[in-house]
Amino acid sequence: MEKVIDDGGLGRFRALIAAAQRIVVCGHVNPDGDAVGSALALQHWLQRQGKECTVVLPNTFPDFLLWMPGAKDVKAYRRHEAEVAPIIEQADLFVIADLNSPSRLMDIETLVMANPAPKVMIDHHMSPADFCDVTISHPEMCATAEVLCHLFWQLGELQQLAEAEAVCLYAGMMCDTGAFTYASTRAVIYECVSHLLARGIDKDRIYRNVYYTASLARLRLQGYMLYVNLRMRKNLHAAVMTLTNAERRRFGVKNGDTEGLVNMPLQISGTRLSIFLTEDTELEGLVKVSLRSVDDFPCNKMAEEFFGGGGHLNASGGKLYCSMDEALKVVDRALQKYAPLLKGQV
Ligand code: 5GP
Ligand code: MN
Repeated sequence: MEKVIDDGGLGRFRALIAAAQRIVVCGHVNPDGDAVGSALALQHWLQRQGKECTVVLPNTFPDFLLWMPGAKDVKAYRRHEAEVAPIIEQADLFVIADLNSPSRLMDIETLVMANPAPKVMIDHHMSPADFCDVTISHPEMCATAEVLCHLFWQLGELQQLAEAEAVCLYAGMMCDTGAFTYASTRAVIYECVSHLLARGIDKDRIYRNVYYTASLARLRLQGYMLYVNLRMRKNLHAAVMTLTNAERRRFGVKNGDTEGLVNMPLQISGTRLSIFLTEDTELEGLVKVSLRSVDDFPCNKMAEEFFGGGGHLNASGGKLYCSMDEALKVVDRALQKYAPLLKGQV
């Protein structure tokens, strides 16, 4: 296992937890399995330390994460503002998991930042912003849940984790690595997994809970997307897929049904980059962009330069305030700019 914080920092972390009574754990907008899993693992552990602890997210997470222990008690700020605002205002410590900048808190950014209570960041995104009292940031790690495994090890807690905590941490790592198929070659990841298995988790059941609980609508949507909406830019080794709100209505697409679609074109031999554009379901005139790549193609650079976003080397996102047609033109420009890299020339 690896140290994720120096001894002084660990002491400060312990002291902040010891002094706090009402802790809020936050995650990023459009929470994924790592955001929800990490936040819930922290919540279970903090509650076991006798703390009052609530997980507050800017908006709801996909239904396929609802099975996670504690998931039904998570507070999504959007649509429940009156209930959730006082919880944020009365917190005496924030643990901010799986995000690197206040802007990723989106709807709850203003409330969280207005509360002067101390803040701890636990994350694995690059370039962490300097807004927390303790920052535990490790971009080389596959998931925030992995960072937490190491942190619990440093605290002497890893071998005492409750099963629910281990389940949430395993789910977080599994979701951020496509079930350990990308960003997961470091040997120490499997040391973490070994410790979690020793806590009695059923990893095969966790896999099925996440990946084998689709609705018929989701499978039909996948078929339609691949057959009709997928455009291959073969000479660029790139794939572009779109999804409009009209199509969402036609297929009865639910929250979470689009999860993972962006990865599918990477199954096609030789594909290096997949771009997925989807009209936002809440804000008209907003197109959300997801990017996935293999090897060393820098999705995050493309996301920063063309889509007002960022992320990891192989998984990034952003947004465009325009129509789908205009968004496709931006994608064309991005592909042209990155053509030399995509074609494999230096
Ligand atoms: P997804 O495609 O799943 O929405 O996002 C993949 C990754 O890209 C996220 O884990 C996050 O790191 C990054 N990302 C997505 N949207 C944004 C954005 O609007 N801004 C930034 N900076 N990063 C984003
Ligand atoms: Mn993550």
